[in-house]
Amino acid sequence: MEIIFLGTGAAEGIPSIDCDCRHCRIALEKGGKFVRKRTSLLFKINSFNLLVETPPDIGQQLIAHNIRDLHVILLTHNHFDHTGGIKEFEFWKKNITLFAEQEVMESVIKEYWTTKLDKIFLKVPCYAGSILNFGSFTITPFPVLHSPNTPTYGFVLNYKNQKIAYLSDAKSLGKYASYLLKDADIIIANTPFFEPPTENHMSTVEAIKLKDELNAKKLVLTHINHSNKPYDELVSYCSQFKDVIVAYDGMKIIINDD
Ligand SMILES: [Zn+2]
Ligand SMILES: [Zn+2]
Repeated sequence: MEIIFLGTGAAEGIPSIDCDCRHCRIALEKGGKFVRKRTSLLFKINSFNLLVETPPDIGQQLIAHNIRDLHVILLTHNHFDHTGGIKEFEFWKKNITLFAEQEVMESVIKEYWTTKLDKIFLKVPCYAGSILNFGSFTITPFPVLHSPNTPTYGFVLNYKNQKIAYLSDAKSLGKYASYLLKDADIIIANTPFFEPPTENHMSTVEAIKLKDELNAKKLVLTHINHSNKPYDELVSYCSQFKDVIVAYDGMKIIINDD
C-alpha cells in the first residue's frame, strides 16, 4: 500500500496569489518542497486507486503523477480547496465512484453538478460511523468540528493490521473519533497554521499534542498555509518529536503489507 501526497497546501496554496510574504517569496525563488498545491491524497491499495479530495489543482496533480486510473474519489467537506476541482472530471473517460457523506454530497451537487459529471460519477452517499467495505480494506468516516455550517468528515482506513486516519480540516475530534483513532499507525492532520490555536483548524502544535493523546505511532502534517513555517524550518522544528513527518507535494509513504 502506498499513500501519495499529491498536494499539501492549505486553501490558498504556496506561493499564494498576490502575496509578498517571506514564505511565498522563498517558494517562488527555491521551488521544490517549498511549493504547495492544494491538498489531495492518493491511496494505492493493491491495484485500487482511491483519491481523497478534488482541489482546484487536481488536473495538474493527476497529470504530474501520470494517474489515469481512479476507482473511487472520497470528499470530506465542501470547501473550495477540497472540492473546487470536481468539474475537471467532466473530461475523465471512465466511471468513478464518488463517496461523500450525505450532506457533503448534497452540497457538492448543489454547487457544482452538471450532466457531464453524471456520466462519469456513480454517487454513493455514506454515513459517519458506518463501515464502507472495499474488500481488502474498509473505511469508516467520522465527523469532526471544522467551520460553521460545513459538515466535515475525517475517516479511518483499516487495511490488514494497519489503522490509518485522515482528519481532514478539523479544529477538534469528538469523543467518538478519538476512541476510533486510539493507537492508530498513522494520523494525517491538516494543520494550516503553526500556532496559536485558531477557530476552525488544529494548529501544528495542537496536532503534535494529539498524536500523544491518541498514542498514534506516526503523525503526518499536511494542508500547510503560507503563515506556517517554510518546509525546512517546519522539518527542523518537528525533528525534536518522534515520528512527526512534514508532508511535501509528491511525498510517498509506502506501507509494508505484511
Ligand atoms: Zn482546507
Ligand atoms: Zn475546510
